[in-house]
Amino acid sequence: MKKTNEIISDKIAAVNQILPHTNKWAWDLFIDGAANNWMPTEISMAKDIEQWKSDLLSEDERLVVKRCMGFFAGSESLVANNLLLSIFKYVTDPECRQYILRQAYEESLHNLTVVYCCDSLNLDVDEVYQAYNSIPSIKAKDKFLMNISTDINRPDFNINTLEGKRELLRNLITFYVICEGIFFFSGFAMLLSFNRQNKLPGVGEQIQYTLRDESLHIKFGMSLISHIRSDNPKLWTKAFEQETLEHIETAMELEVAYAREVLPNGILGLNSDMFINYVQYIANRRLEGLDLPAAYEDVQNPFPWMSEIIDLEKCKNFFETRVTEYSVGTLQDDF
Ligand code: MN
Ligand code: FE
Repeated sequence: MKKTNEIISDKIAAVNQILPHTNKWAWDLFIDGAANNWMPTEISMAKDIEQWKSDLLSEDERLVVKRCMGFFAGSESLVANNLLLSIFKYVTDPECRQYILRQAYEESLHNLTVVYCCDSLNLDVDEVYQAYNSIPSIKAKDKFLMNISTDINRPDFNINTLEGKRELLRNLITFYVICEGIFFFSGFAMLLSFNRQNKLPGVGEQIQYTLRDESLHIKFGMSLISHIRSDNPKLWTKAFEQETLEHIETAMELEVAYAREVLPNGILGLNSDMFINYVQYIANRRLEGLDLPAAYEDVQNPFPWMSEIIDLEKCKNFFETRVTEYSVGTLQDDF
């Protein structure tokens, strides 16, 4: 059978015939992702440990770190689960699947970052790993994501109807655009603002590499959505568009509640309104990426340094910044 360029299908167990290229855009993103190797545990946490033990950080600052870790602990795992349980199943194009396999590996590194930060700073494991249960605003965001994954995994779900395909599209929008594209960005901005004041440099460096990974995930997700949309012109109706806008609006309400809960008094001269503005600015950009009108008028980026970090990260080579020899694994005789 000749390879087609159809991206989604019900041929979930088909052979992944990569060549000849039919969706080379996805292959190219896979190559870009594969060039971004890094390893959380090779980043020194010595300074962070020293600062965490000292009285350099206020209680409000510590709370932000613990809540960010709590949110990432739950949501990074939800992204990975959804990727393998829902997206990989129906996105059957071999080149897209190749990207998804790479992405799944990167998500496992992001889980490692949370574990490594917990271990290094000796954080209360229950406080971080139970946050999805015990912190109302985190619980609400995680529940919002879980509902979407659970829905697609019900036994009678398939993508043979337009409605089924729309549900898959909603899943992609929820995870790539809302979770990775919007929810993650308040945490990135919060943790990187420490870095700007020479606080928690090890956490900051790991977040920089995570941000670089996530930027590619979003790029892939956005392209995936737009290709599925143009391949299936009947999918994107006015009603679906309206529903998508409402879905994003709900997510933004959850995000505002989260910022208020995590930043009761502000940190480092920054307050919750600034983080909310930043997320609104990001949401406008995501809407633009979906060819939808901006939802927040007159919102300027309160953190232009975030854009600088995102641009700089594109050319950062993890290996060149390490002094130690990096082992990429050696084959042993007796395996
Ligand atoms: Mn991730
Ligand atoms: Fe991701």
